[in-house]
Amino acid sequence: MEQRFFADTMLGKLARWLRVVGCDVAYVPALDDAELVARAREEGRLILTRDTLLIRRRWAREHHFFIVGDHWRDQLRQVVTAFGIDPFRHILTRCLECNEPLRDVVMTAVADRVPPYVHETQELFRECPACGRIYWGGTHRERMVAELEKLLGE
Ligand SMILES: [Zn+2]
Repeated sequence: MEQRFFADTMLGKLARWLRVVGCDVAYVPALDDAELVARAREEGRLILTRDTLLIRRRWAREHHFFIVGDHWRDQLRQVVTAFGIDPFRHILTRCLECNEPLRDVVMTAVADRVPPYVHETQELFRECPACGRIYWGGTHRERMVAELEKLLGE
């Protein structure tokens, strides 16, 4: 089964980039440590954390992955390597804000929800069923692919 994660409050940027590569990552910055551990346990998620106090909590002790790096690039590389994640296989298949898997939508359905230029030049659109954000290819995607290639080349 695919590993599901719960990122602690200090790892927002890592959580977002893990969603970019298609990982299922919960991230709720408002939670305190006890709530975070309870939620992760309830949802069967592995806690990603750099917090040495958090990992002393009962359930968390056995169910965390300790993040070493200070920078999100190092952190992402660490997770991708440790869990054997192919960063390009499921790129941009999940909402970066809500973590929901995106669904394909037909062009006509998004015509009035994206800029005309985008509508004319893009063919594939995906929508987040939770927040309604529309995702498409183009420069945003290219930038992320370039960023990931750079990251893995380092
Ligand atoms: Zn969303």
